[in-house]
Amino acid sequence: MENYTGSLISKLPFTGTSIFAVMSALAKEHNAINLSQGFPDFPVSEELIKLVNSYMKKGLNQYAPMPGILPLREGISEMFETRYGVKYHPETEVTITAGATQGLFSIISAFIRPGDEVVVLEPAYDSYAPAVMLQGGMVKYARLQAPDYSINWDTFPALISGRTRMIIINSPHNPTGTIIKAKDLKKLDTLLKNRDILVLSDEVYEHLIFDGHTHESICRYPGLASRSLLVGSFGKTFHATGWKCGFVLAPPQLTAEFRKVHQFVVFAVNTPVQHAIAEYLRNPEHYKHLGRFYQEKRDLFLNLIKGSRFKAVPASGTYFQLLNYSKISDEKETAFAERLTREFKIASVPVSPFYHNQEDNKVLRFCFAKTTETLEKAAEILCRI
Ligand code: PMP
Ligand code: GLN
Repeated sequence: MENYTGSLISKLPFTGTSIFAVMSALAKEHNAINLSQGFPDFPVSEELIKLVNSYMKKGLNQYAPMPGILPLREGISEMFETRYGVKYHPETEVTITAGATQGLFSIISAFIRPGDEVVVLEPAYDSYAPAVMLQGGMVKYARLQAPDYSINWDTFPALISGRTRMIIINSPHNPTGTIIKAKDLKKLDTLLKNRDILVLSDEVYEHLIFDGHTHESICRYPGLASRSLLVGSFGKTFHATGWKCGFVLAPPQLTAEFRKVHQFVVFAVNTPVQHAIAEYLRNPEHYKHLGRFYQEKRDLFLNLIKGSRFKAVPASGTYFQLLNYSKISDEKETAFAERLTREFKIASVPVSPFYHNQEDNKVLRFCFAKTTETLEKAAEILCRI
């Protein structure tokens, strides 16, 4: 095809292809063990697959209602009531989305106007900043502080101005695996009192929390919950990232505004998957043990690499482990991650692309949502490096 010759002024001039796509493609090209992009390499439950199939056979293959099928919204509402003692009304406060990514994008599109400022904790998941920029918003970065990637409450308030419209938080946190504590949310609550600022709380790893910690959901803090949109994902909870099914919880007025955008981004989400998840979600056994399940994987991975020269950064959640390689090389993270993929056949994700200024701390992120066999093979390689 002949190339486009009109004028092309990119709306995202500094944005390339997502690091997850880049590293997964590189892993495939070099036939490397892929611990880069976050997804499990073990199968989805047979029962859940059968449910999807049965709903397809029953003829549930046409558009779902725009906000999502009611039984799934009811199931999510019940899960939040059981887990956090908070009731989101299934009709007016719960919306099913095509994965968390679409929820995040539609929330930002619905509420951010040109000139608005959005505070983002850094390192940050890669979809937040571009979504803000596409709306003409400005991102203000709150750098999480070493060594535990905690929020610096001495410097954070200075990022809030009369133009601040939203704060985006994420716990358990991708890529660091750290978690927000009750004291952080109390501080945030106090800081936002008498200010018209929304909170977007990305809680896609809400069940993946370890070492006896409990998940501090934004919904537990009434002063924050009333100004918050909470994002979840069944991709993480049911090991089915490819199904792209998630949800957004928010008070009625915020939900109504959110749905005005949601309906034109996707209109509705995959019908048989929604029905299957609604039925599967009724049994809490299907998600109650996820924390223990992934903690065992993390501990196995950490044990297996004990003899290596990588240094693990302590973490309490998600299915990611950061490893510092400063004893091995002074190469940049991106160069080192690429070399490990090409030469050692093990793919990870450099952390520098999670920083707007590509900050380089010699750390790589490894996804341990893998079978024991994969983790053993990966560890054997890491111990050789
Ligand atoms: N937020 C965070 C923090 C993530 O790690 C991810 C990716 N898994 C998403 C959102 C997107 O989730 P989904 O795959 O459901 O779109
Ligand atoms: N959330 C996943 C990760 O952090 C990947 C999501 C994606 O590929 N966009 O690796």
